[in-house]
Amino acid sequence: MGNWIVLKHGMNCDADFKLSNGGLDWAIDCLVVSGSELAITDSEKRMIVFLSERNTSTLGLGVAGFELPDMPWKAETFEADRAFLIRTAEHAREVMQKPETQQMLQYSVEPERVNEQMDEFIALFRCMTADLIVPEAESNWFKWHKPDDPTLNSFPKCRRHGVLYGCDGCKICLDQSGLFPVMPADIERLKHLWEGTQES
Ligand SMILES: [Zn+2]
Repeated sequence: MGNWIVLKHGMNCDADFKLSNGGLDWAIDCLVVSGSELAITDSEKRMIVFLSERNTSTLGLGVAGFELPDMPWKAETFEADRAFLIRTAEHAREVMQKPETQQMLQYSVEPERVNEQMDEFIALFRCMTADLIVPEAESNWFKWHKPDDPTLNSFPKCRRHGVLYGCDGCKICLDQSGLFPVMPADIERLKHLWEGTQES
């Protein structure tokens, strides 16, 4: 088991890697916190939202990995979006060492581990090429988003953590949901997560 982050299944790229559940959760936090700060265009924001949804608490243990063509790439913005993801991983090294980030996440990761992990993401992002884009990846991804989902409504950010909302709300709020009794009012339908009842 383990969460595989790969260029593409079957291609056996040297940059493919596997993360434990805890490892995936903090590694994705690095990218989501950093990328939420840097993302300007809609396609950049979509990349970060996609990443924030790779969450073991919503997808399940050992199955939150992905292959790069699953991401919502578009041919028109491919180069810019790949450069953005590399910049995001670079920026994460610095962001993750800030006391305010550590306070917000309520944990810290040693700089060496963050650096090694971001190196792995950067190496993999560099392997992504435009010919691997799956034209329907973006629309397939949007299919699991309901009309009132934040992704389809101007990409709001969590007021508490400043990170872009995914279809399950803020990844950091989800990680810490036992600590916060109030769901941000932006996403009414997700209140059950905070109120402890199950959505039917
Ligand atoms: Zn939050």
